[in-house]
Amino acid sequence: MTQAAENDKPSSALLLPLAEAKENGSMLVEASAPCDLFSDVLSEGALLGTVTVKGNVLAVEDNAVFTGTARGRWKFECTRCLSPVEAEWSEPVEMTVPLDEGPMDLTAEVRQSIGLAQPMRILCKPNCKGLCAVCRKNRNAGDCGHPLPEGNLTSTRPRLTPRHHKG
Ligand SMILES: [Zn+2]
Ligand SMILES: [Zn+2]
Repeated sequence: MTQAAENDKPSSALLLPLAEAKENGSMLVEASAPCDLFSDVLSEGALLGTVTVKGNVLAVEDNAVFTGTARGRWKFECTRCLSPVEAEWSEPVEMTVPLDEGPMDLTAEVRQSIGLAQPMRILCKPNCKGLCAVCRKNRNAGDCGHPLPEGNLTSTRPRLTPRHHKG
């Protein structure tokens, strides 16, 4: 016995058949896919569990217009103290295809949304104290006794003054 038949299934769990939208003019959507489907999207960190998409499809003239939200959970390292941070993310998703073209495949749109939702940096808490520059101890866990690098992060460069062009 082989599992070859399994491979014939559509690879995406985010395929929306459009028959109902075509018939009724609108259709509620709730779909989910394992986060593995998007494992290559994030440049760092990782998605967790499932990615859920909720919204609705409206039939607008000859088009099926989906508007909704993709959401899930992910895990990053805190930019300052490197401790793991787990958080929920959500991002709007929109897609339009001709009604007769169905099913609508939201995979690419959701992929793009996850990329857009990825934060440039993530902190375990807004005032994370980071790691001690001397002993690498997590300063959030307690004072290790080493002096803080006061002001070093923001004011090492002299402030630039605007140049006046003489002409
Ligand atoms: Zn932190
Ligand atoms: Zn220290």
